Amino acid sequence: MSGHDHHHDHDHEHDNHYTPIQARVKALESLMVEKGYVDPAALDAIIDTYETKIGPRNGARVVAKAWSDPAYAERLKADGTAAVAELGYGGRGGEHIVAVFNTPEEHNLIVCTLCSCYPWPVLGLPPVWYKSPPYRAKAVIDPRGTLADFGVTLPEGQRIRVWDSTAETRFIVIPMRPEGTEGWTEDELASIVSRDSMIGVGLPGAASAEA
Ligand code: FE
Repeated sequence: MSGHDHHHDHDHEHDNHYTPIQARVKALESLMVEKGYVDPAALDAIIDTYETKIGPRNGARVVAKAWSDPAYAERLKADGTAAVAELGYGGRGGEHIVAVFNTPEEHNLIVCTLCSCYPWPVLGLPPVWYKSPPYRAKAVIDPRGTLADFGVTLPEGQRIRVWDSTAETRFIVIPMRPEGTEGWTEDELASIVSRDSMIGVGLPGAASAEA
């Protein structure tokens, strides 16, 4: 399999408040429930799994372990998929995870320019803005301006490297461990790893953008 997993569910405005893909999903869901193919409670459980159990807390644990355990960080650099599997994370959307490490010289930013590919097993469902055409375009054209939109200013000398996700390869940013966290436990460290810092539009310790 090659190329990009296209799901062009945007780019035009409609009068109703559902996007075309949302409307199709709603229609399919209603039909399947009506025909008795699916139990709405089971669907809710699946959605809840992605929203609460498989969420950015998984990624935060990966980052905290990488900060605490240099050998783990090396394994994560060498094979992201295998290293996140060590913590029990994997599956759909995580078949090939690449961890990109921020350094004083280089900051990493992830985007999916064509649609909304995202490392589900470690970050959960993508925020709405990640799927929006403005973010997808601007992240590539003007990454520094994109970071400014999120209130992040990097040192002048720090390059920004943009990683374009695909259906096959999905990225997670490993931010730099903040100063002043020496001696913290992995739980304490994980608590300051925001979702946005693992997308590259935020830094550890700061709250994530809405939705
Ligand atoms: Fe995509």
